[in-house]
Amino acid sequence: MSLLKRLLAWFQPDTSRPLTQAWLAALWMGLLANWPLWQQLHGMADVRPFFILAFAGMVTAATGALLSLLAWPRFIKGLLVVLLLSAGALAHFIGSYGIVFDPTMVTNMVQTDVRETRDLLSWRLLVSIALLGALPAWWLLRRPTAPRQALPKRLGGNVVAFGLGLLAMVLLALSVFADLSSTMRNYKTIRYMVTPLNAVYSIGSAALRRQAAPSGPPAVIGADARLLPRADGTKPPLLLLVVGETARSMNFSLNGYARTTNPELSKLPVVSLRQVTSCGTATAASLPCMFSPLGREAFGDVKGTQENLLDVLQRAGLAVLWLDNQSGCKGLCDRVPNSSTTKLPEGAAPLPAGLCDGEECFDEALLHELDKRIAALDPARVKRGLVLVMHQMGSHGPAYFKRSPPDLKPFQPECKSNALQQCPREQVVNGYDNTLVTTDRLLARSIAWLQAQQAFDVGMLYVSDHGESLGENGLYLHGMPYAMAPAEQTHVPMVLWVPEGGGLAASLKPGCLQGLRDKPASHDNLFHTAMGWVGARSDIYKAEWDLLAGCRR
Ligand SMILES: [Zn+2]
Repeated sequence: MSLLKRLLAWFQPDTSRPLTQAWLAALWMGLLANWPLWQQLHGMADVRPFFILAFAGMVTAATGALLSLLAWPRFIKGLLVVLLLSAGALAHFIGSYGIVFDPTMVTNMVQTDVRETRDLLSWRLLVSIALLGALPAWWLLRRPTAPRQALPKRLGGNVVAFGLGLLAMVLLALSVFADLSSTMRNYKTIRYMVTPLNAVYSIGSAALRRQAAPSGPPAVIGADARLLPRADGTKPPLLLLVVGETARSMNFSLNGYARTTNPELSKLPVVSLRQVTSCGTATAASLPCMFSPLGREAFGDVKGTQENLLDVLQRAGLAVLWLDNQSGCKGLCDRVPNSSTTKLPEGAAPLPAGLCDGEECFDEALLHELDKRIAALDPARVKRGLVLVMHQMGSHGPAYFKRSPPDLKPFQPECKSNALQQCPREQVVNGYDNTLVTTDRLLARSIAWLQAQQAFDVGMLYVSDHGESLGENGLYLHGMPYAMAPAEQTHVPMVLWVPEGGGLAASLKPGCLQGLRDKPASHDNLFHTAMGWVGARSDIYKAEWDLLAGCRR
């Protein structure tokens, strides 16, 4: 009789107990909130259904084990509510865009702004949060509070539940060990798809990284920065550095893409480098690394603790100006003059109608009153030379259709939704290619503006921060961990414009720049190429990383 009672009690657990709540939530999240993971595994030809079952059990057991340690009254409910709501949101993003949730993604989220976040909001997201998160959270909040229990007893119960969960996970892992190791090896991103463990791990790891970063001003680099003496009669350099956004190399017609995405640039004497790799797969990772002298491999260890290219150019005596049309410069422009299209300087004329909608501007707003901006800089510095950085909104997704003006949408029809998976793939690509045509016009108009700057020896270097996935292998957007990222996300366009007849062109061997087209290059080259371009030198300048060095006479 008592056995039967016990069995019944097991099937009707006391849901006021923190441990029971923890395990019910683990079961819900492990099995249901991970639907994108089960769906993806199910679609893989070499994955057995039994493995998916065992893996689902492992995920549930691991989640339950961890939550057991945290199953304390007055604490567990709040924690579970947060986890459930997060799991609902994560299920949407992983299911809709194939993103993975790793520590870099957390950094991106922290550094992003309202405009970018709004692009990601949708009804589907709300439904996912409501069904997978709010519904069980509501049920949970209505459970009564458990009667008080002596501390040792509760602690003992939690530790036992943790041990049992761990044991279950290990046994399940052993039962499918061969499948598990091959699946983990072949599909490395799966580990970042396990909700909510991915969020707990990634947020914890990003927070630790932040803690570990030293506070205070960044370390000085290039303390000996100086300008090479300029020959009499030559003009000071004006380098326009355009930092692109989410443009991928393979969709530039300059690089062989079949569609005309570079109608303007293709008429100009530009050199497009076709073998350029990015430093990261997201803005927050790429930008600081691009402006560092260290290069991708060495940069990983020092992240954000050092000054950057702009500090060194300014120290050398040049004028530097950062113009932003995105979510900011990630700290790069903190010590140099900067402004943003959404926050015009005092006394600036309002932007022409159609360029901005009050919240967001097309990239051409970057060209607005440029002469006036330059006139406001320190004239003594400007006389020595100027480096102007434009940070584009470019092809930022998923709302590509918002990034090209109505008169610049040659590829039709385009996807008008930010739920990219709901659109036919051609429409996603159309919307994306229209953003590249928009960037093409921005660059052509920038070159036209540069040609009018008679006082300077002008030139332009454009490079994107990372690429983009447009549905290849079910992946959308960007931000994959670098080691597993597809070429679509890491191969970026880079375009040089060095006008004939200018001082820089005269210092280079004729025709040499064209030879760079198929030479492998990367973001590692940016710092040193920019230094060499404007005649700045320092002990940290490496001629072998300067793309132009090999072409100098
Ligand atoms: Zn970016």
